[in-house]
Amino acid sequence: MLELGTEIQFVKGVGPRIAAQLQAKGILVVEDLLLHLPFRYEDRENPRALIDLMPGEMASVIAEVRGTVLLKTRSMPIFEMTVGQGTSSMKCMWFHGTYLKDRFRAGQTVALFGKVEPSRSTKNFKMIQPQFEVLREGLTDAEDGLIEVGRITPVYESLGGSQLSSRWIRRVIFHVLRDLEGRIPETLPRVLVERLGLPSREEALRLVHFPASGTSMSTLQAAATPAHRRLIFEELFYLELGLELKRRKFHERLGTGFVADERVRGALRAILPFHPTGAQKRALGEIVGDMREARPMRRLLQGDVGSGKTIVALQAMVIAIENGYQAALMAPTEILATQHYLAARRLLERSKKRYRVLLLTGSLDEDTKRVNRGKIYRGEADLVIGTHALIEEKVEFQKLGLVVVDEQHRFGVLQRFRLMKKPNQAEPDVLAMTATPIPRTLALSLYGDLDLSVIDELPPGRTPIVTKQVPEERADEVWAFVRQQVGEGRQAYVVYPVIEGPKDDQPELDFPNEDEEETAGSSAARVPRPGQDDNSKKKAGVKVSAKTTAKAGGRAKKASLFPKTPLRSATDMYEALRMGALEGLRLGLLHGRLSADEKDVVMRRFQRGEIDVLIATTVIEVGVDVPNASVMVVEHAERFGLAQLHQLRGRVGRGAAKSYCLLVTGKRISPQGEERLAAMVRTQDGFELAELDLQLRGPGEFFGTRQAGLPDFRVANLLRDRELLELSKKVAAQFVKSPEGTEAERALVRRRLQEAWQRRYGLSEA
Ligand code: ADP
Ligand code: MG
Repeated sequence: MLELGTEIQFVKGVGPRIAAQLQAKGILVVEDLLLHLPFRYEDRENPRALIDLMPGEMASVIAEVRGTVLLKTRSMPIFEMTVGQGTSSMKCMWFHGTYLKDRFRAGQTVALFGKVEPSRSTKNFKMIQPQFEVLREGLTDAEDGLIEVGRITPVYESLGGSQLSSRWIRRVIFHVLRDLEGRIPETLPRVLVERLGLPSREEALRLVHFPASGTSMSTLQAAATPAHRRLIFEELFYLELGLELKRRKFHERLGTGFVADERVRGALRAILPFHPTGAQKRALGEIVGDMREARPMRRLLQGDVGSGKTIVALQAMVIAIENGYQAALMAPTEILATQHYLAARRLLERSKKRYRVLLLTGSLDEDTKRVNRGKIYRGEADLVIGTHALIEEKVEFQKLGLVVVDEQHRFGVLQRFRLMKKPNQAEPDVLAMTATPIPRTLALSLYGDLDLSVIDELPPGRTPIVTKQVPEERADEVWAFVRQQVGEGRQAYVVYPVIEGPKDDQPELDFPNEDEEETAGSSAARVPRPGQDDNSKKKAGVKVSAKTTAKAGGRAKKASLFPKTPLRSATDMYEALRMGALEGLRLGLLHGRLSADEKDVVMRRFQRGEIDVLIATTVIEVGVDVPNASVMVVEHAERFGLAQLHQLRGRVGRGAAKSYCLLVTGKRISPQGEERLAAMVRTQDGFELAELDLQLRGPGEFFGTRQAGLPDFRVANLLRDRELLELSKKVAAQFVKSPEGTEAERALVRRRLQEAWQRRYGLSEA
């Protein structure tokens, strides 16, 4: 008898070899397999009669194979199959379909799923590259009737090649569920489940894989059945529960209650070079509120590029200093640390007080570092600005009151500040700053363990950045414009998606790849959007889809009909522009393969105005401030994600001069690419762009899940399930306040919470 916790290799039909494959996909025990949900469903309960099909619709058809032929056309081999039902028939075509030639035999029954297309040659319809499953090969399997046809059939993403196909998964899951019948335990308190009107866990798992007869297909495809909602809720509930507990724990720890009286407020005003915006005032008010409490602050300050986070953070640091504490500011790179250091010195000099500001980065020589560490230890530095070196080099503070982290939005990173406090001292307050605009509801839910302040207003007097899309044929005009701006004493950035050489060898390539985009839809629970797919092909000037689907439910394989577009690279174009269009200007080259020192040298020269045009990759993305730069040229702009484009554009428009962002685009742009570019031209509002980005890409890619250290969900999808996210947050908070259920149920919740947090989110502390 199986249990949810039974190792996967003991499941019938799996064994050690397949188990190893499954383990690589994160499926270790039976429960993991059951949480591998179908990404779509086929209505094989009411399959369509061929004579009833309508052109343009997506349809499930069960029919008999009548004949196959491999056509050798000039451009490519095409595999054609005729299927029939009684006297009606339909053609199916697969481009580059040679691999299919021994796959079918006349007389077999196949299930097909695809878009119905009109056919010119016959009066019948055809399907191009439909997904397919051969239902009966050789002997009729008695189980076919139960699992494959005559029902709403789940379709899974393959777990490895043709062997662990959708069909294979379906069968294994079917048997596992049968074996486990009546024995799948509930994981939430029963009262809770009932109050929310959700099905039991067992029922949910059963129905999500094998939906009851007559379930609405559209509700299934949208993952919105009660069964889906139950599983999604559960996953989000445990996330939110963990966050809520963490937040509570923070709040119970001993922090410092800073005083913010008239004297301190005077010190804050003294460093202000301008009138703060309403949003800046509000954010500072929230921060001051936290700092006065005798519990540690854990606050995220979110504000678009240029919204003025720095001064707010600096004011917070002055509060700590005026209370007799030290403050630290940590930046992600040496350039940014130095930039903050210079800015802080400049601003603090406005005050009569002599604040002692100190820089500590990894690249300082050992002697300086040692001297600085000593000053920090003895309390001879009030404000310490640095990189990760602050943590890594075991810097000991005499009395650390506040840590500000710039451009960090990683789960868990905040924990590490405890290393910086002395055993007998209170926890320092922590303020994290990020310029990544995250739609507010998501931010609130995701950073449930942080309090959130948002600066949603730009300082006055900014001239909007002129953003234009320019086809690459007109690059000459772009270079002429750059020359003209440099002639007026300005500087420019030119950004490329790759460093050099072939595309496959590029560490910095994390922009959405157009070629990949066409195969989107293979990710879990995404409903096929036929209209859109079709469009992308037309717009791209390609007559037929380049993807071939090897197996129903399998990931679409690519077989390009055309060579990949060669991308211009930073290194090549640096040479080309130096000798050509920008000859005579002072060019610099900056990319991720340079050492930190080399990058620093180039960046400083650009900052000092010794370089007119900086040819770069996206390494310049974050935080760099060169007010004299007025032009941002992005080549192959259609290849960049919205967030990146927005960050890149944020590098200009920081000074008084009118600034320009020129998005140079290639010949083939997907509809999504067009949408991104249009949005960039239309608006400069980071939150609006983030919202759109999230919609276009989905949360996984939007956050770059693993990079950002955000949780990686199995059944939930943050974009689709926002409403459930809000609900689970509410329910979790309520649960922490007054836990429901029996003692045993609550113990179970605690245990699962710990497991969930350890296993899924990699956090040991829950
Ligand atoms: P970011 O939020 O990207 O870190 P900064 O703090 O670097 O933004 O601010 C961007 C620019 O705007 C800086 O040059 C800063 O001096 C200026 N600035 C910030 N707040 C105001 C304000 N209230 N009025 C005028 N200028 C401001
Ligand atoms: Mg900043």
